[in-house]
Amino acid sequence: MGCLFCKIVEKRLPAEIVFEDEFFLVFKDIHPRAPIHYLIIPKDHIESIASDNSEEIVKDLIKVAKKIVVGQGIDGYKLVFNVGEKQNVPHMHMHFLAGGSSE
Ligand SMILES: [Zn+2]
Repeated sequence: MGCLFCKIVEKRLPAEIVFEDEFFLVFKDIHPRAPIHYLIIPKDHIESIASDNSEEIVKDLIKVAKKIVVGQGIDGYKLVFNVGEKQNVPHMHMHFLAGGSSE
């Protein structure tokens, strides 16, 4: 089976990529729940924010989110992590939602 998001990182599965650097990848959620709905992920496989040492990565995910905000001139946004049974793909990802109502 393998990890869906690792396959996206390796370009073995298509995704609409918004931003990429050495360590992180940002792509559009295929089931958007807001006008702008991106997933910000570390390229290295780490299961979730419940994993050991996830805090350092969270810090960097927020830095990536800020780059997107500045780059796209976004005013308000929401950052969400799902964990455990709330998390559909077991590869840590931060949802970036903006525009319209994302409640
Ligand atoms: Zn993975």
